[in-house]
Amino acid sequence: MGSVRIRRRSDRRRTHADDLPQSAAWPAKRLPRKETPLSTRSDASFPSIVVIVAELGPSLTADEALARLQEGNERFVAGKAKFPTVQKDVLAELAKGQRPYATIIGCSDSRVPPELVFDASFGELFIVRVAGNVISPEVMGSIQYAAVHLRTQLFVVLGHEGCGAVQAALASLREGARERSRIALLLDRIAPGLASVDASLPSDAQVAAGVEANVRWSMHQLLDTAEGRARVEEGILRLVGGVYELTTGRVRFLT
Ligand SMILES: [Zn+2]
Repeated sequence: MGSVRIRRRSDRRRTHADDLPQSAAWPAKRLPRKETPLSTRSDASFPSIVVIVAELGPSLTADEALARLQEGNERFVAGKAKFPTVQKDVLAELAKGQRPYATIIGCSDSRVPPELVFDASFGELFIVRVAGNVISPEVMGSIQYAAVHLRTQLFVVLGHEGCGAVQAALASLREGARERSRIALLLDRIAPGLASVDASLPSDAQVAAGVEANVRWSMHQLLDTAEGRARVEEGILRLVGGVYELTTGRVRFLT
């Protein structure tokens, strides 16, 4: 695995293909693909993706990916987002396979669409969205897929201000509020991360603290595996947390 040189052109609108190394932008021409029979591939459920990404390596390093997310969020906040529509040539290229540059674990909240928040286009972000950005076996599986097969090097847990799942988990903890059974199961995944939230704070402050604590709790769970620790210790993969501000549109990355 190594970093890739990114071509940047300022004289015209950039496309997805511009941001890929040349070999990745045109895999059909430059990379003779092995015509491995489907049955012998390592992951038959994602055949085209596996064939393509396994030969290309990661799209961006973790640091490059984080800088790109930050730049995209700045454009979004400034009202200068670049991707109001997607070009047909980009769709045609993406039909050959995906090479997202980052993986986002975010909340389902309709006010926090990661592609828009980071001014990213089709094929650029691999996103797992679940209420409260909780970690479950299925979420873990999706993240592992992103790491092993898509080879994104940056992973972002993205919480947001006023998260209803965090509010409900706090209400359950503080007031014994009861939710329906499956919602309660979801809240149970959030509750352990809220232990550090000061119960004497005003409720708004508790939610704000709870959102950040929940992001850190999800990060902790991702790192608290032998595989997670090993990958981060290698210094290639990077896990960061962020909180989206509903009123400003800004993502505050946690330090
Ligand atoms: Zn939420």
